[in-house]
Amino acid sequence: MDSINRRQFLKAGSVATAGLPFAADLLATQAAAPRASSKMIAIQIGAVSFADEGIEECLDILKERGAVNTVMPAVYSNSRGTAGRHKPYPGHGKNVEDLSIKGGNYATVHPSFYKDISIDPLATQATDHPGFDVLRDLIPHTRKRGMKVIGLFQNSFNEKLPGADKLFSFDFNGKQTDALCFNNPYHRRFLTGLVDDYVNSYDIDGLIYVNETQGAFTDMIGARFRGRERGLPGSRTCFCQYCIDKGKAQGIRVDRLKAAFQEAEKLVAAGRAHQKPVDGFYVSFWRLLLRNPELLQWEHLYHESYREVYKLMYDHVKAANKNCQFGLHIWTNTSMNPIYRAEQDFAELSKCADFLKLALYNNCGGPRMASYIQSIGDTVYGDLPLQEVTQFHYRVLNYPSEAPFAGVSEAGLSANYVYQEIKRARAGRGPGGAKILAGIDVDIPLSQLDIVEGAKMENARLTTRERVRDATGEALRAGADGIVISRKYSEMKLDNLSGIGDAVRSMS
Ligand SMILES: [Zn+2]
Repeated sequence: MDSINRRQFLKAGSVATAGLPFAADLLATQAAAPRASSKMIAIQIGAVSFADEGIEECLDILKERGAVNTVMPAVYSNSRGTAGRHKPYPGHGKNVEDLSIKGGNYATVHPSFYKDISIDPLATQATDHPGFDVLRDLIPHTRKRGMKVIGLFQNSFNEKLPGADKLFSFDFNGKQTDALCFNNPYHRRFLTGLVDDYVNSYDIDGLIYVNETQGAFTDMIGARFRGRERGLPGSRTCFCQYCIDKGKAQGIRVDRLKAAFQEAEKLVAAGRAHQKPVDGFYVSFWRLLLRNPELLQWEHLYHESYREVYKLMYDHVKAANKNCQFGLHIWTNTSMNPIYRAEQDFAELSKCADFLKLALYNNCGGPRMASYIQSIGDTVYGDLPLQEVTQFHYRVLNYPSEAPFAGVSEAGLSANYVYQEIKRARAGRGPGGAKILAGIDVDIPLSQLDIVEGAKMENARLTTRERVRDATGEALRAGADGIVISRKYSEMKLDNLSGIGDAVRSMS
């Protein structure tokens, strides 16, 4: 972007934000002259917001509303969840009908960092905002304000790129999917190439990697929110040759995998159809595991594999700049699924991360918890009423004060849940472990898939300024090393974003 275009770009943003109804409210917030917190207060934001609203204007709003001192731009993403606009229109940015994004690398691709990745690295360049580099063009403005920049990159890919199929996973029926495999050497080289490019080409303070996946077995039994839809027969991964060879080398009887997953599929299909096995679901589940230990071995192999990739990326970051921070987003599934939680050992993860951002989304977390319970309540816990499944999970996850199944969609999860989770993470990371950041949700939208039988979308708990303030306050009170406002600025109502600033300033 040449300097004239850059000026136009900034000007366009000031036009876009001038005269909006929040202006007076914003001035009122400024007048409060708050003391800034010494903890990291970060926000996830897509390049589209800088394009729509202007860099300077955005940064001013983030600082005033959210007490933000660290910007986490989506530098590599193919997901509208971190890089796009939003409906319903939150009252800032551009109000457009077409929400689609092109996706890819929102900084400038420097091809020399990418070796043997099966695709042309230049093809991964995002083309949504021609001439705009979300790091090069943002960093001077953040420096001026004393703000840090941590680039967010997400496990995602444009499956239409020529050569992309070489990075993809296979399901247990041998069918190729568009999910990425962590044992695939092309994928690993792509990720280390991204890390090398960002850390060597830009004066960034850190990177955070977002991976929201689990293994084939837990996905198959529906152990996640929206699990009923995710557990489709044969859809889970990965069973590619790289994974098979690795499993074989570890002594896993890979020749039995297909039959084992077919048996699991039968149990899940019976559960979804509410056809109770002779000995019930729980006993049948354990019979399945005892007869097919490969199911759990394969699950653990999956989690070990992405942790290897985390360590690989961590080492690349430190080799390029030992002061650059590397962090991980910990998927909200760790708040629901005890099997997934068992794989998220904070002391272990601290070996490959300087900070861990726990997605403690207490607003959308209510409906998500209900949809998780409904899903797993069809399979492993099909013998129990859903309220008993819920109670069991609250006990084992240590949530002393959450709403029952019938009300959790509408009540959301409490601020106390955020407090409990930060306490647990701080104890679990061990001495010298990674910093613990609380991911607080502001206006993350719900899908119809989150809405369980008997609940209504319009009644499901929506973000309010007070709830954001309370969750943030409890996270800080529990000793969180910082806050990450999630999941992207373009979907947040500005008044709700102010809930972060309310909490931070009241505790400064
Ligand atoms: Zn694989």
